[in-house]
Amino acid sequence: MFKTKKNKSKKCKSKKCKSKKCRQHGGEEVKIDIEYILDSINKDPFEICGYINEKGEHYMVAQGAPKSETNHSASCPSSNYRKMWHTHSFVSKYYPSWQDISKVIKHASVEESIIYTKFGYWTLSCINNTNLEKSFEKKITDILNSFYFNTGNGREYNIEQIRILIINVKEYVSTLIEGFDITWTNY
Ligand SMILES: [Zn+2]
Repeated sequence: MFKTKKNKSKKCKSKKCKSKKCRQHGGEEVKIDIEYILDSINKDPFEICGYINEKGEHYMVAQGAPKSETNHSASCPSSNYRKMWHTHSFVSKYYPSWQDISKVIKHASVEESIIYTKFGYWTLSCINNTNLEKSFEKKITDILNSFYFNTGNGREYNIEQIRILIINVKEYVSTLIEGFDITWTNY
């Protein structure tokens, strides 16, 4: 199940190495597979995150602090990779946060962001980038709140609500920038 392969040539930079797991790995990035990610979603009360290289291989670079320790959402530090991934584990809601959506739009360096959840995964992408006004947070939060209330506080699988979220987010973001996309894929 745990097919990990240490990549000793690529050491974490110090700012990416604050998490316990990263320190446990001696600050090394670890190559992992989808089974490892799914296993973490089902058992870890925190996010794990990393990047995807040109060959489509997943590397883990950090993990967030457990919710119980921080009282905040269990999130990884943000990083600027071309293709990023992170998990929303079983303790989290399975839809993207407004920050998840804003990240691919704001940062020129980030082209694609994949969010692995219990039920499937989101792919967010944006080939262009732009600054976002405060109204972005409000508008996206309204869309996400509607999803939250229609899916048992964001925890019940509901393909119809997923479709509605995608349509509403794309429709709104298309008024701000071209080249944005959000898709959902079941496992
Ligand atoms: Zn997220």
